[in-house]
Amino acid sequence: MYGKGILKGLGVTWKRYWNTYIEDLAWFFRRLTGGQKRYYTPEGVARRTSPDTRGIFTIQYPEEKLPTPEEFRYIPFLVYDETETDEKAVRCTSCGICAKVCPPQCIWIVRTNDPKTGKPVPVPAEFYIDADICMNCGYCAEYCPFDAIKMDHDYEIASYDRNVLNMQDLLKSADYYASIRPENATREDEARRAKEAAKAAKAAAA
Ligand code: SF4
Ligand code: SF4
Repeated sequence: MYGKGILKGLGVTWKRYWNTYIEDLAWFFRRLTGGQKRYYTPEGVARRTSPDTRGIFTIQYPEEKLPTPEEFRYIPFLVYDETETDEKAVRCTSCGICAKVCPPQCIWIVRTNDPKTGKPVPVPAEFYIDADICMNCGYCAEYCPFDAIKMDHDYEIASYDRNVLNMQDLLKSADYYASIRPENATREDEARRAKEAAKAAKAAAA
């Protein structure tokens, strides 16, 4: 029969429309007996984004936000370790590998030189990322040999100006990195410790 597909599609839309009200009422009554709210709660968001959801499945952004998975990536940031004297030990050595592999070439690094000898010091004097050009590919983080640059989860950086991030904007602690990417941070810490132990054992044997 002509038009059967259209009627079927409209039926799906109609069913979902009514299911929204049925779900809203079910959650309303559940709430009267101490249950959670359907909106603005992690439980409500989890339910509406699950395959079991019925009715509305959109998110009330910006009041509600989808939880970001560990491997989600947005703009990169530079990692620093806290020293015992509360100083920021920047991991970046300004080797420039990230700038070389960056496909749209949106990383600029100014290297530090020792003022007395003129020789390069492995710390960046300046570091910029043009966030308006960055395509969030993650190559910089992938290729950095020092775990010094990582992909952030913060996607709310829109502004009316150019988003060129400097060192101050980019620096974030290793604890912050571990909080957004716990599995990656643990794996990298273990690998680093194993490498240091092997190096120490080699030195002791020599
Ligand atoms: S972030 Fe990594 S790859 Fe980029 S300059 Fe620093 S150490 Fe080198
Ligand atoms: S994520 Fe990709 S585009 Fe963005 S700075 Fe890193 S390498 Fe460049």
